[in-house]
Amino acid sequence: MSILFEHVTAVTMDAAEMVRKNAFVAVEGAKIASVGAERPAGTFERVVDGRGKVLMPGFVNAHTHVPMTLMRGYGGGCDLQTWLHQYIFPAEAKLDDRCVAAGAALGLAEMIASGTTCIADMYMRTGVIAQAVLDAGISANLSCGGVYFGAPEAFTPEQCGDCQNQIALTETWHGAGDGQILVDASIHAEYTSTAPLWRWMADYAQQHGLRMHVHVSETNAEHMQCLEKYGKTPAAVLDECGVWQNGGIAAHCVYLSGGDAELLAKRGVAAVHNPVSNLKLMSGVAPLFFLRECGMNVALGTDGVASNNSHNMFEEMKTAALTQNWNFGEDHGQLSAADVLRMATVNGAKALNRDTGVIAPGKMADLILLDFTHPNLFPCHDVLENLVYSASPSDVVMNMARGKIIYENGQFLTLDLEKIRAEVQNYALPHLFA
Ligand SMILES: [Zn+2]
Repeated sequence: MSILFEHVTAVTMDAAEMVRKNAFVAVEGAKIASVGAERPAGTFERVVDGRGKVLMPGFVNAHTHVPMTLMRGYGGGCDLQTWLHQYIFPAEAKLDDRCVAAGAALGLAEMIASGTTCIADMYMRTGVIAQAVLDAGISANLSCGGVYFGAPEAFTPEQCGDCQNQIALTETWHGAGDGQILVDASIHAEYTSTAPLWRWMADYAQQHGLRMHVHVSETNAEHMQCLEKYGKTPAAVLDECGVWQNGGIAAHCVYLSGGDAELLAKRGVAAVHNPVSNLKLMSGVAPLFFLRECGMNVALGTDGVASNNSHNMFEEMKTAALTQNWNFGEDHGQLSAADVLRMATVNGAKALNRDTGVIAPGKMADLILLDFTHPNLFPCHDVLENLVYSASPSDVVMNMARGKIIYENGQFLTLDLEKIRAEVQNYALPHLFA
């Protein structure tokens, strides 16, 4: 399908010209065909009047656990370890494919309505999530978050469930939907497995050209216990097993110590900052200026809804800016609105190795349209300031993923929200919490 956005304010995220007023953006098939000040030649199947609207790249939510949407607000008020062991793990033990499908669909609906077009997700029963993503229409890097609690000397890949899950996931889903689904290799975290799994996963990633997705130094306790146990930080101990050789995502990076950030930068690993989840679980605030100075690409994620409690990337951007300004502003000045928007779009695309996050010819047409006539976005002295500090999901009037409009004016075009709601209400919630 060919679509033209005309007379629109385009926040391109392109370094050369970040904001283009009265722009014309043409989409052909799944890609952006042109961006310019003049109407491109030719006819279009659909022309969207962009007056009063802002077009920007869809958000890249670079660290999520989408089926955890079922646990929104469950076990609130605890620190990470208490929350995990007393609430989340017992509920997760009851999950089946049908629950995961329902939770994934609900989470994807929330993401789509709030402007997300691409995610990096880590969760179990990952094939079910892949099907939900394929149906919803956004792009996803999926991983199963490998854990291994057995004795290290007893490890064999044949008997390790997550090695088998990784193999099945890669063979069935890597590249599906013309690249809509990409599979990452994954280790849930240093503290939920041991070196034999890390070595196997590193070798597997190397053999299949996969990137890696791991939780790293999310809490001080995790970081210190690893130092006590191995005499090395989580980033370093995983590096010894070759985990980072293909680059990828280190989620959180709140407590990296000297050398970690440089090491991860050298390996092409992005830090994914999850400020709302980190604050809610009282984990801390990642030092973004420091991570950037060390050469790390910094992206943004919501983490799971169980610890957030939403997939709202606007909230994530604003919280990221406010917490950095308060904690590090004295030395570094404000984190600019442009930098925060980069974290939520183009930096996320780089972290996921996706050709998106920028409005430029040839890039994937992952675009969202916001109505800037809404009272909370008027007046507009600075488009970027309004996007980071004033906008909310209700301002998103269109979500286009891979060139296809999947949400418009409150209507989902790929998902049946009523059906999803009924499935969550009548099957998933009683199954997990009754
Ligand atoms: Zn997480």
